[in-house]
This record gives sequence, structure tokens and C-alpha cells, in this order.
Amino acid sequence: MSYVKEALERIKARNASEPEFIQAVEEVFKSLEPVIEKHPEYVKAKILDRIAEPERQIIFRVPWVDDKGELQINRGFRIQFNGAIGPYKGGLRFHPSVYIGIIKFLGFEQIFKNALTGLPIGGGKGGSDFDPKGKSEDEIIRFCESFMLELQRHIGPDTDVPAGDIGVGAREIGYLYGQYRRIRGAFENGVITGKGIVYGGSLIRPEATGYGLMYFVHEMLNYNGVELAGKTIVISGSGNVATHAAEKAHELGAKVVAMSDSSGYIYDANGVDVDAVSRLKNVERKRISEYLKDHPTAEFTEGWQGIWSIPCDVALPCATQNDIDLEKAKLLVLNGVLAVGEGANMPCTNEAITYFLEKGIYLAPAKAANAGGVATSALEMSQNSQRLYWSREEVDTKLKGIMISIHQHAVEAAESYGFGYNLVAGANIAGFKRVADAMVQQGKY
Ligand code: NDP
Repeated sequence: MSYVKEALERIKARNASEPEFIQAVEEVFKSLEPVIEKHPEYVKAKILDRIAEPERQIIFRVPWVDDKGELQINRGFRIQFNGAIGPYKGGLRFHPSVYIGIIKFLGFEQIFKNALTGLPIGGGKGGSDFDPKGKSEDEIIRFCESFMLELQRHIGPDTDVPAGDIGVGAREIGYLYGQYRRIRGAFENGVITGKGIVYGGSLIRPEATGYGLMYFVHEMLNYNGVELAGKTIVISGSGNVATHAAEKAHELGAKVVAMSDSSGYIYDANGVDVDAVSRLKNVERKRISEYLKDHPTAEFTEGWQGIWSIPCDVALPCATQNDIDLEKAKLLVLNGVLAVGEGANMPCTNEAITYFLEKGIYLAPAKAANAGGVATSALEMSQNSQRLYWSREEVDTKLKGIMISIHQHAVEAAESYGFGYNLVAGANIAGFKRVADAMVQQGKY
């Protein structure tokens, strides 16, 4: 049995109760056989076993008092997965589905994504099973303060730098940073990214994941001689990533006809009014069905999973993991999809990925395609440590350059290991090699 297979068996046995984590590891390891064959030093250093074991996992109690005066207890997590190329970096997710397996899969993905950006950031992730939905502003504040009371011991601008993810946007980042600053008694704003502009946030950071996704998809299509302009797009989700991807898609001349939230999806043949969706979901915090009030010709369908039955040229899953399974992948292909761009983390199952690749669908994998968010977070860290601000144009130009360079690195890595134009393999290999080399050069631990 090859080292890749042996290591995978050990990792599966050790993490048997974490299916999402095993799925993420399998997806990466699938691309690594030819790399391991060419690099005996990785086998000697047991790199695969080491890379799949977090350097540190922190699990903590988060008690907070709700508006009725009742004590609530949630669970908090921070996984410092791999610090070989820089301080741990990765978002915080607040969602009731969060448990250690979700944070581990996200942290594992983050290692390679961060390496792909070419910037000095290691991989980490965190969050809580707290559900922000339906909570009052005061409850959100109390939860964030309690969460940071413990988290602050483990993070710092040079050690571990969290950011947002599902359920954690600019509002929560503000409350988290405010508490960190009070406890530390210092203005160390490089400790967290996604901040408001007035206290050290970067211009373009809120837009970066969605914009970056579209820059990447545009580059992937362009490289293959296909125009993005004029294409029909379906996007799942209506949060940070989805709305900014939709905005940029329209700017690039494509038409987004459907978007969703966890209650269902809207279809608007005229092209979705992105400002309206963004206001509804991210400012008023309402359900997406309310879109119909001002857009009476649009349609709403209950149940978010049906969105992939809508014919489109480009599918952009930007909500959550395992959104597109084999059955939905088949439906998309049957309906003529040309390209899939993963805005969310691990939104396609491994079976769906294999099917898309077999059918010659252009697939922009999450590690590469949604790396614009963390890349711009790293740019925010640079601005914070220099204590200056870059203009919108400067950050946007850097973001675009990074997305194009990630595409190029993925293309080259895939080609040099015999995968042809396969960005899934290319992204895995390019990200893995940078981290593996750093680990080998730093010794055995
Ligand atoms: P948001 O919380 O802003 O939005 C999430 C969207 O997805 C909402 O529309 C939400 O619906 C929907 N959604 C979330 N969970 C589920 C679920 N279990 N079932 C159905 N719908 C769901 O999150 P983001 O936009 O920040 O993140 C979306 C994805 O992108 C995640 O996979 C995240 O890890 C990934 N990502 C985010 C980055 C960032 O910079 N924010 C960077 C890189 C990746 P509802 O409002 O009803 O809950």
C-alpha cells in the first residue's frame, strides 16, 4: 500500500466521528500520489500524518446571559492547525451545526488555501455552536464578549489572527475586537481582520471573497477561451460571499437569476437585484422571500436545495458545505452547466467533484477560488502593522493579481504532475508543497 493510502487509513481511524474532516483530507490526498512518489523526503518526515493532525485544539465554555436573564452555555473552538508558513489565520463560524469536525475540516482547508495566496499565513479556524439568528443586539454583544474572554488568551497579531465566516460579519468582529482591546489594554488591531474601516479594517475586505471568486472564474473561463459576459449564473446563499459575487458577476456582464438562504430560493428572470438582497439579508436580517414584496415578478420556492434545478451556465455554491451532491451535479450537467465556482468551503461532495471533472466542467475549487477573502485579510494585517491605509483601487488591484496568480500556480502544478487542466489537483498540490517544504525545513515537530 502506498504511503498516501496508509496515512489516510490511519487518519480515518483516528477521526472516525468527524466525516466532514475525513472528506476534506480525502479530497486533498487524492491529488498527492505523484507528489509523494517524487519526494521521498515527505515520506521520511511523515508529512501526511503530521499535516492532518492540528498543532493545537482549544475547546472552551462560553456562558452568557440572555434577555430573560437566563444563563446559556455554548461551546467555543479554536484550532491552530498549521503554523509552518505564518501565524495561524482563519475565520470564526457561529452556527448551531458547529462541532469539532466542522472546525477541523475548515482549518485543514485553510492551510492549503492560505499557502496558495503566496502570503505568510498559517492555517487555523474557530467558532461556536451559538446561533445568532433571532438574537437581540444585546445578546450578540454578550455572547461575543464572553467568547473573547477566553479566546483572547490564545490569539495575537503574531500568533493567531481570526476573521469572520458564517454568522460572523463586521458587526460581530467589532464586538469581538472591542472586548479584546479592553482586556489587553492595547490597540493591537492586527489581531483580527474584517474590521470596520474606522478602526483599521481594509477597504475591499468585505467584498474580497465574492469579488475574488469572480476574478478567478473569469480567469478560468478566459484561459479556456470562454467569455463570462452574457452567461447565466445561479448562486446559493445570500450572505457576504454570495452577494459580493453577484455584484461582481453583474459588473462583468453576466446575469445572476437565482439566490437562496436557508429557507428557500428566489428566481428572478430579469436578473436578481443584488442591492435589494444584500439590504434584506445583511442589514435588515430578514428572510429572502421578502424580496418578492418589491419584485413581484420574481418567484420564491421553499427549501434551499432545489436551487440547482434551475438551468445555468455557471453555478456558484456560496452557502455551506456539501450543497452539491452527485445527484445535483448530474442535474446541473444535464441542464448544460459549463463551470462551477466554489465560493463556500467544500460545497461539492467528492463524488460531485469527480463527476464534474469527468464531464469536462471547468471547476474552480474553493481553496483557490475563495482565497481572495483571506488574502485581503493578510493585506489588512500588513496595513495594520504599517499603521496606514491603502486605497480601494490599490487593494482591489492586489486582490485581482493574487487571484490570477493562484490560477497560474494551480495550472502549473497540475500540469507538472500529469493532471492536465485540473485546478482541483493543481490547487491541492501547489498549496501542499509550500507547507510541506516549510515543515521539512523546520525539523520533525
Ligand atoms: P454568511 O453568514 O454571510 O452567509 C451564509 C449564507 O449561506 C446565508 O445566506 C445563509 O442563509 C446560508 N447558509 C448558511 N448555512 C446554511 C445551511 N446549513 N443551509 C442552507 N443555507 C445556509 O456567510 P459567508 O457568506 O461569510 O460564508 C459562506 C461560505 O463561504 C461558507 O462556506 C464560508 O466558510 C465560505 N467562506 C467565507 C469567507 C468570508 O470571507 N466570509 C471566506 C472564504 C470562504 P441564512 O441567512 O438563512 O442562514
